[in-house]
Amino acid sequence: MCTITSMGESKDLEQNPAQREPSSKLPASLRKAPRCQAKTRQGLSCLSPAANGKRVCRMHGGSKKSGAPRGERHPKFKHGRWSVEARAERAAAHALLRSLKDLV
Ligand SMILES: [Zn+2]
Repeated sequence: MCTITSMGESKDLEQNPAQREPSSKLPASLRKAPRCQAKTRQGLSCLSPAANGKRVCRMHGGSKKSGAPRGERHPKFKHGRWSVEARAERAAAHALLRSLKDLV
């Protein structure tokens, strides 16, 4: 049941457009797309289609070239010890060491 206040606002969250399932008028490719995981200012899920390869929509920081640059170009980059490549390299070295210990 939807309640309308004197200001004309809907109080029932079930009737809020942000809470509805993706519209059946959308093309199937957009309806099946992963949904934005951001919360709106009302605390509800966004439900817009997430940008390609991102977990949020274009309005919540998923657009191309949004966010800080990756790697050495990031302003907080110091030495690269914890970079994705360095961590993967250390994990591979540890795996190799473990397999060598199994041989002995
Ligand atoms: Zn969003």
